[in-house]
Amino acid sequence: MISDFSQTTDLPAFDVCVVGAGPAGITVALKLAEAGLKIGLLEAGGLEYEQQSQDVYKIESVGRDLYAATTRLRYFGGTSNHWSGRCRPFVREDFEHVAVGSLPGWPISFDDFNAYLPEAMRILDLPAQGFATRSIPVENGYFEAEKDALSPPTRFAEKYKKQLEESKNIQLFLHCNLINVEYDGRGAITGLDVAGYDKKTSRVKAKYYVLALGGIENSRMLLNSPSLMGLEHLKKMAGVGFMEHLNVEMGQFFLKETSDDQENLGGFTSPKFVSDAGVGRGNVTFGIVRQIRSYGRTAKIKTFLKGLTCDLALADKIDFITKINCPGEGFITTLLEQFPERNVNRIELSNEVDSFGLRRVKLNWQLSERDVKTIKVIAMEAAKAFADSGLGFVKLHDYILRDDVFMPVSPHAHHMGGTRMAASSADGVVDGNCKVFGVDNLFMAGSSVFATGGGGNPTMPLIQLALRLAHHLERTVKA
Ligand SMILES: Cc1cc2nc3c(=O)[nH]c(=O)nc-3n(C[C@H](O)[C@H](O)[C@H](O)COP(=O)(O)OP(=O)(O)OC[C@H]3O[C@@H](n4cnc5c(N)ncnc54)[C@H](O)[C@@H]3O)c2cc1C
Repeated sequence: MISDFSQTTDLPAFDVCVVGAGPAGITVALKLAEAGLKIGLLEAGGLEYEQQSQDVYKIESVGRDLYAATTRLRYFGGTSNHWSGRCRPFVREDFEHVAVGSLPGWPISFDDFNAYLPEAMRILDLPAQGFATRSIPVENGYFEAEKDALSPPTRFAEKYKKQLEESKNIQLFLHCNLINVEYDGRGAITGLDVAGYDKKTSRVKAKYYVLALGGIENSRMLLNSPSLMGLEHLKKMAGVGFMEHLNVEMGQFFLKETSDDQENLGGFTSPKFVSDAGVGRGNVTFGIVRQIRSYGRTAKIKTFLKGLTCDLALADKIDFITKINCPGEGFITTLLEQFPERNVNRIELSNEVDSFGLRRVKLNWQLSERDVKTIKVIAMEAAKAFADSGLGFVKLHDYILRDDVFMPVSPHAHHMGGTRMAASSADGVVDGNCKVFGVDNLFMAGSSVFATGGGGNPTMPLIQLALRLAHHLERTVKA
C-alpha cells in the first residue's frame, strides 16, 4: 500500500521499518514482505521529483566537487531514477584484499557475499548470458579481460510501484522524512522521528530499523541523531572511510589502423598487478571516437572542418576551437578504486542546516598519495601495454607524467563507505550483518557499508548486501 504521510493519522508498529525507497531500501522491504513480515517503508520524496525534497541534499563540498546535490535524487526510486545501469561484479580478491589504505578490508567472505549475485542480477534485469568481456590488446599479466553487463537500466520506482501498491505487508509512506533516530542508551532504538514538509511530525516504532538513505545520507543521519552520538565508538567512526571511484582521463591514443573489432579495447587490473604494485583495482578503457562530437545544425560544417583538419594533421592545433577527433583516435578513461583512509575523505557536518533544521554534510573529498599512485601507475602500465601491442601509440596527459601539474579527477557518483563494515567498532560502524555496533536493532543498507569499493560499480553489490541483510533479518525476527 502506498500513502502520503501528510494524509496519515496513525502509524502502526512494524516488524521492520526501512527508511529510504531507493534500490537498497526497496530490495530489503520486498524481500522481508515476501517472508511474511510487516514492513513500514518511509520515503522522503513523492512519486516525482520535487524541489523541496531535493534541496535537502545540498552539501558543503570543500574539496574536489562531488556534485552531490544534483547527482543524487531524493524521491521514490532514489538515484535509480537516473543511474546508467553499468554492473561489474566484485571479485574474490576484493574480499581477500590486505589493506593498502589505513583501514582494513571486508570482514566477510567472498562466497558468503556472492551467494546473492544471481538474485541481484535478476532484480537488475541483467542479460541471461551474464557478463560480457572486453580485452586489453596485449597479454602482459597486468591487465585481464574486463567483465561487465548493462542493466536496461532498471528504474526501481517504475518496476516495483505496482507491487508496492498491492502489497499487503508493506506500507510505503511518501513525503516522510527521517529526522532523528532515538537511542535509549542501553542498546536499543526506541523509535524514529519523522517529519512532513508541512512540519507535521510523528514517531515510528518497529522491532528493527534499517537505514537505506544512500551513500552519504546514512552517515549524515547517524551524525544528526544526538542520542546515538552518545556512543563514543559511533561518534568516532560515523562518516569515516568515505570513498568514490576515480574518474580521470589519462590521455589520448592513436591507432595505426582502424577496424571494427577495435571498438572496445580495455582491461581490468589483474590480481598480480594490484599486489605487485600496491595499487587499487580498476578498469582502463580505450574508447575510439568515431563520431565528431557535435550535433544539430552546425554538424555539416563541423564534419567538413573535421575532414579538412584530419587530412592536414591539424587536429591538435585547432582543438581549442571545437573538440575534433580523427578516425583512429580516442581517449583513455578509467574507473579506479579509491582506498578507504582513516583521516582523509570523512563525512562531517556543516554548520548550515536544511529546512528540517538538520545540519548538512561537509565533505572534503581529496586524493590521498595512494590514490595518486594508483592513477599514475595504472596509466603508465596501460600506455606501455598499448604501445607494446603495436596497435599505435599513446600520449599521456602532463598531470600523469609530472607531479607539479594539477590532476583533474571527477567522481563517478558512487558514494561508498562512511558506515563501513568491519570486524570491530574500532574500524567501522556496522558488523558483518550490517548491524550498528553496540545497538541491537539498527541496521544499515547501501554502499555506505562497503569496506572497500573495488573496481566495480556499486549498485549490484549493494543489492547483494541488501538481500543478505534481509535474509539475516528474516531469521532474526522469526527466531
Ligand atoms: C548519473 C548517475 C549514474 C550512475 N550510474 C551507475 C551505474 O552505471 N552503475 C552503478 O552501479 N551505479 C551507478 N550510479 C549509482 C547508483 O545510482 C547508486 O549506487 C544507487 O542509486 C544507490 O542506491 P541506494 O538505495 O543506496 O540510494 P539512493 O538511490 O540514493 O536512494 C536513497 C533513498 O532514500 C531517500 N531518503 C534520503 N534521505 C531520506 C530521509 N531523511 N528520510 C526518508 N528517506 C530519505 C531518498 O529519497 C531515496 O529515495 C549512478 C549514479 C548517478 C548519479
